[in-house]
Amino acid sequence: MSDYKNIWVLIDIQNGQAKTLELLTGGRKLADAVSEKLVAVVIGSGTDAAVKDAVANGADQILVVDGADYADYSTEGYTYALEQLAGKYKPAALLIGATISGRDLAPRLAARLKTGLAADCTDLEIDAGTGTIQWTRPAYGGNELAVIETPGARPQLGTVRPSAFKRGEPDTARTAEIIKEDIALPAGTIRTSIIERIAEVAEGIKLEDAEVVVSGGRGVGSTENFALLKELADLMGGAVGASRAAVDAGWISHVAQVGQTGKTVSPKLYIACGISGAIQHLAGMSGSDVVIAINRDPDAPIFEVADYGIVGNIKDVLPALTEAIKKL
Ligand code: FAD
Repeated sequence: MSDYKNIWVLIDIQNGQAKTLELLTGGRKLADAVSEKLVAVVIGSGTDAAVKDAVANGADQILVVDGADYADYSTEGYTYALEQLAGKYKPAALLIGATISGRDLAPRLAARLKTGLAADCTDLEIDAGTGTIQWTRPAYGGNELAVIETPGARPQLGTVRPSAFKRGEPDTARTAEIIKEDIALPAGTIRTSIIERIAEVAEGIKLEDAEVVVSGGRGVGSTENFALLKELADLMGGAVGASRAAVDAGWISHVAQVGQTGKTVSPKLYIACGISGAIQHLAGMSGSDVVIAINRDPDAPIFEVADYGIVGNIKDVLPALTEAIKKL
């Protein structure tokens, strides 16, 4: 066990951009507690920008695997590269974003490394004496919080929700040790090939990246009424989200769904319109900084998590809010 050192964070790269940099905040907390290094692992093709971002966001050391084999994410290729790196450097822990690729990669890697996996975590602590991580994850649709440990396993492996930590201010003056590893994939490692990419059609800002999300539920009532939400979102430079009830009703595309089986968002402002506040919906937006709820039922559970509440019909409140903001 004492051979295993340092806290690793895998940087998820999408379209050449580093996406899970906020995990470095969580990794920093663990690394400082045990006085070890925070190591960012960057795998891809043309990774210079992602490496710079990882340095600016706090990594002490960067392990880079750059090559044509890694131009696209593949379960087999990334598993192979990480297995080689882990075998050589023996990390104490590896944090992977609970993104689409991270959720795919982590279980296979855990099996390959014969270690445990704490999936979909929202908080992390570490015992400074033993180096054992306590991974917190919501269970039973967010009704319980489970704390998971894998004390006898190294590396300790977990996926962490992107909204669990806030990204710090990048410091472009920072420097870090950069180690390049040349890991060629044995022929036939990748057993799938990408035939075509179809970009998700999203007008304007992506929901996951938006600082303001105006989200609508069953109370919005129709596709036409979603135009009221869109107008407000556009005015504030934000994006439109939805509850599953609104998606199931066909008023808005499923790509807008926020919640347990939809997207996880953590905007600065979340405006919930005609959404009751079911636990499965809260699971996707409880990382928001400020929540405003508009609901005609004063007893709606959403008001329990809202910072500000407006009791009223969205058809009256939204146009009034939009007009007021236009005048600012
Ligand atoms: P409702 O619960 O019907 O609430 C509508 C609200 O609108 C009410 O509070 C009402 O007072 C208010 N209202 C009505 N008319 C107006 C008006 N004119 N003006 C103002 N307010 C009005 N849900 C998700 O959202 N995301 C998920 O990812 C998700 N995953 C799920 C996974 C599982 C396994 C299960 C079982 C459920 C999941 N759900 C999810 C569904 C969830 O349980 C709720 O059914 C859903 O979130 C309810 O959506 P809603 O709040 O829009 O509708």
